[in-house]
Amino acid sequence: APLLEARGLVRTHHGEGGPVHAVRGVDLTVRRGEFVAVTGPSGAGKSTLLHLLGGLQRPDDGTVLLDGESTDDYTEARWAVERRRSIGIVFQFFNLVSNLTVADNVELPALLAGSSTRHARAERERLLTELGLAAKARSMPGELSGGEQQRVALARALVNHPRLLLADEPAGSLDSRGTREVMRLLSRFHRRGQTIVLVTHDARLASAADRVISFFDGRITDDVTLGDDGPAA
Ligand code: ADP
Ligand code: ADP
Repeated sequence: APLLEARGLVRTHHGEGGPVHAVRGVDLTVRRGEFVAVTGPSGAGKSTLLHLLGGLQRPDDGTVLLDGESTDDYTEARWAVERRRSIGIVFQFFNLVSNLTVADNVELPALLAGSSTRHARAERERLLTELGLAAKARSMPGELSGGEQQRVALARALVNHPRLLLADEPAGSLDSRGTREVMRLLSRFHRRGQTIVLVTHDARLASAADRVISFFDGRITDDVTLGDDGPAA
């Protein structure tokens, strides 16, 4: 079975201005090892789609399947377990715990998932070194630049070796240098086999992916896969 599948997903928000049909019927299959970018203008429904895929919001209709298993009957607690163990998520505004050190932010999900202190520490060291943050381990998130904070968020998202990484406008609050850095890191983890679904309005960021899905007004309007050995531009 594919790693992730969406069938007929629908989600309507009920705001003050009346119903907003954010996701209007989405079918999507993501296979292991793919790096998929969902791109489209602000308000297209990309973020809502990502929230549905990660169980942060529930669909009004349709189903999300993980490894072929329907999540229809998942409780909030079950989704929380999935997000701890098998789905890592990074957000535009990092969402780090501001009163914990960088090291503790990265280690926390490993401890919550039941890793030993020793294992959690080893994983944290490995990722912080890999992401060029070893010297920042004792810093507080607020002392770091935006780009550094996003790298911490990435380390935290990856510490439990999730099967799936979801990224919601991960460069949305970064400058162009930070954006390039995020692209480089996502590409690197993808080359090592990490499955990634990225949503972004930034076509440049989306170009790091090997499959680009265009999203407009709650629907997929295009889906282009660039073959691994495809057009040698
Ligand atoms: P951001 O745009 O910063 O990503 P979120 O999408 O996380 O913000 O939304 C923050 C909160 O506001 C959430 O509870 C979300 O459901 C709600 N929200 C987002 N957009 C709207 C909207 N247009 N109308 C009402 N609530 C909204
Ligand atoms: P995108 O990520 O493509 O910018 P979103 O999924 O954030 O799109 O939003 C899609 C539409 O749904 C927008 O019109 C947004 O204002 C609206 N929306 C998002 N979240 C909420 C919410 N919690 N309540 C009401 N409207 C929302």
